[in-house]
Amino acid sequence: MRQDKLLIPTLREAPSDAEAISHQLLVRAGFIRQVAAGVYTYLPLGWRVLKKVSDIVRYEMDSIDAQEILLPAMQPAELWQTSGRYSAYGPELVRLKDRHQREFILGPTHEEIITSLVQNEITSYRKLPLTLYQIQTKFRDERRPRFGLLRGREFLMKDAYSFHSDWSSLNDTYWNVHEAYSRIFNRCGLDFRPVEADAGAIGGEGGTHEFMALADIGEDTIVSCSNCSYAANLEKAETTNSQFEVHNVDLPKNEKLYTPGIKTIEDLVKHTSFGADKFVKTIIYKRDDTLIAVLIRGDHEVNELKIKNFLNAESLVLADLESIKEMGSVSGFIGPIGISIPILIDRDVASMSSMIVGANVTDYHLINVAAGRDFTVDQIGDFRNVTELDLCPLCSGSLQFHRGIEVGHVFKLGTKYSDKFGAKYKDDKGNEELMIMGCYGIGVSRILSAVVEQNHDANGIIWPYSISPYQVHLILISINEEQQLELAESLYTQLKNEGIEVLFDNRDERPGVKFKDADLIGIPTRITVGKQAKEGLIEYKERSNNVQITASTDEVIQRIK
Ligand code: ATP
Ligand code: MG
Ligand code: MG
Ligand code: MG
Repeated sequence: MRQDKLLIPTLREAPSDAEAISHQLLVRAGFIRQVAAGVYTYLPLGWRVLKKVSDIVRYEMDSIDAQEILLPAMQPAELWQTSGRYSAYGPELVRLKDRHQREFILGPTHEEIITSLVQNEITSYRKLPLTLYQIQTKFRDERRPRFGLLRGREFLMKDAYSFHSDWSSLNDTYWNVHEAYSRIFNRCGLDFRPVEADAGAIGGEGGTHEFMALADIGEDTIVSCSNCSYAANLEKAETTNSQFEVHNVDLPKNEKLYTPGIKTIEDLVKHTSFGADKFVKTIIYKRDDTLIAVLIRGDHEVNELKIKNFLNAESLVLADLESIKEMGSVSGFIGPIGISIPILIDRDVASMSSMIVGANVTDYHLINVAAGRDFTVDQIGDFRNVTELDLCPLCSGSLQFHRGIEVGHVFKLGTKYSDKFGAKYKDDKGNEELMIMGCYGIGVSRILSAVVEQNHDANGIIWPYSISPYQVHLILISINEEQQLELAESLYTQLKNEGIEVLFDNRDERPGVKFKDADLIGIPTRITVGKQAKEGLIEYKERSNNVQITASTDEVIQRIK
């Protein structure tokens, strides 16, 4: 492709709101443009990378006999009501109505639609196991879309779903997908770790693993053992180390201590659940007329659904520091109860100033209360000390912590959805049984950002060959020099004939501009045709290092092939 015709709008400056280096570089190098928060256009270079990643994903999914399909993004609300997720999914779900006022959603994931499809189409064990997948745009109205493609509200996902007549068949497929995922991420050039994850959110039985690309910007924390193969996300590691603490709380009877929204303790309970700090979450809820405070330790966002299940609560609102700050009427979020409860439990926590307890809705919280004077807190249940998370649960080796970007997730769902949709098969004796399911996701567009996070330098991106938009960047120093032009043109044709993807910088620009753009764009191999063209010599350089070789065109072509 000739660069003078290609839409590569490179920029000197990154947009001011781009925090992540991958976001800055993908915008500056002309791969993507933001349309709205978390919504992006892929320009020609970005789209090429995305197609390459998709091709790798397709190849590896096909290799384990998964079948590609395409499900609709627009889905009737009824399907989501059947699964119970129409209400459970919360504000992340994009809802819309058609002209007849019928409710629809834009798919954040596709368990509902695929289970209902398979329920209709498959009746016999003979057709099982079956794995279907698609690469499709997903919609999630994320609370904090950020870091460019890392957390979009519209993004590209590969999602796969498998259907089985027994658990051992699910296990086989689960590990086949697990291995395919490792091949996919390796081929994309990612440094990643598969880690044990927590099954809480989707609520299945059995295992789940996340594939984490290591990067400081990652929003997840990975815990791994330096001694054995144990690796888990922090959430799972903490659950294994049981970080829940349950305490009995006796809230104040004095109404003056409640803000206007709260008339009774019931109001408080109804609106309460709590955050929030980097390390501790506090929740107050009511069980059998007893108010209970739960502390959850962790350097992560509390998993809403998981806690909801744990508490068996109907609704739960979680707050983080940001949203608490936004609540105008909360006069400082050094909440009296919040700060008090932890004092009784953990002295580390006592020093934290960023907790509150009460409702995280304006005017639904407590004010001016003090532990001991206005209320009491006793520990109940099987109180366990919050232990420092530093020993491996398998071998007691020491644990290491890394930040990670979740690029893939495999999950044994069990019968959660087949039960809701009545997806049954007839076994060899004619008995009807529920199908057992697995689901498997890859953040295809997120991979682009993850790869750039791991592969860049001060001058720009350094693409791995496998997903680079082009394999060779051919730079013609001066379009006005006859010999240079001739040699570059013939080289361009030769390389193309060899089946090599070439981006030919034939622009009428200064060499400095061309080199700067080439570094920014990050194509792994650069060939420069300059002054030495008259001797038939050109320059060969790799983006990832400083080695620069001057050689004949034949030698260079040989090297590239
Ligand atoms: P996260 O924990 O980052 O919110 P998730 O656990 O909600 O992700 P899954 O439901 O497991 O995501 O979806 C499968 C994959 O889709 C994830 O592993 C991730 O790679 C990708 N993904 C999820 N949300 C986004 C998003 N907002 N933008 C880009 N990719 C995403
Ligand atoms: Mg999510
Ligand atoms: Mg996740
Ligand atoms: Mg996930």
